[in-house]
Amino acid sequence: MTSYIGRFAPSPTGPLHLGSLVAAMASYLDAKVHGGQWLVRIEDLDRDRNVAGADEHILASLRRCGMAWDGEVTWQTRRQHLYEAALAQLAEHVYPCGCSRREIADSQVNLQALQPNATLVYPGTCRAGLAPGKAARALRLRTPQQPRRVIGFQDRWHGHVEQDITAEVGDFVIRRADGFWAYQLAVVVDDAAQGITDIVRGADLLDSTPRQLYLQELLGVPHPRYLHVPVVANADGEKLSKQTGAAAFDNGAPPAQLLTQSLLPAARFLGLHVEAATIPDFWAAAVPAWASLLRTRHTQ
Ligand code: GLU
Repeated sequence: MTSYIGRFAPSPTGPLHLGSLVAAMASYLDAKVHGGQWLVRIEDLDRDRNVAGADEHILASLRRCGMAWDGEVTWQTRRQHLYEAALAQLAEHVYPCGCSRREIADSQVNLQALQPNATLVYPGTCRAGLAPGKAARALRLRTPQQPRRVIGFQDRWHGHVEQDITAEVGDFVIRRADGFWAYQLAVVVDDAAQGITDIVRGADLLDSTPRQLYLQELLGVPHPRYLHVPVVANADGEKLSKQTGAAAFDNGAPPAQLLTQSLLPAARFLGLHVEAATIPDFWAAAVPAWASLLRTRHTQ
């Protein structure tokens, strides 16, 4: 299959680490196994979380690992006109909301007590117009109310996944109160504009996928295939990130060390049986190992 276009879409919030390397490796290997292209897109819309130089550091790490991308790297902050155009297309489904996160959380005191990490379901306060005394903050996208909308899809790793976006998410933000475009909108617009056919990323984004499928439907763009790989956790079971103690990728380390301390552990985490003495040997063995893993999981 040559029509495959995959991507790795890191947020430049810090250096690559084992968790993000796993996502990069899985998406890269999947593109190679399918004879496809592998693009890199820097998701830098949240300027408050960006770390200066992290984008170039991540790109240098990918190069050092021998992961060559196809085409030009894209930066979301340079593509704002595309999100503006999508917003215009979605206008009839969008409304301004004046609620703060605190107010939404307060409306769900019981739910929050039960599930501290639960998505905040928007109660619809501003759906029929800004509530009195409120100023517009974010822009929200209406989710269908009657009937409610259950969106299902076939994940290549997890099988059938579904979510009632009305009840489990509610009307969701597409432009944030701070003026930044929301991840959900930007990712859908870019994946479509770049012709992405296959998304391979961490399972922490599994419950974002139904929202993205819904946006694709409203924008009239194709649905990509999805594969969500397991997420690396630290000893406390938290998703590995800079904040939860991930060791930063060391761009200055010699190749043998990159192999033993980064590439082989990431491959092992994905369940790949690879032995290699050099980085080129590693990829030569990892591509067929990924193909064989897909076969044992009965997915292509
Ligand atoms: N930028 C997101 C992240 O770094 C990934 C987005 C995606 O793969 O859809 O977590």
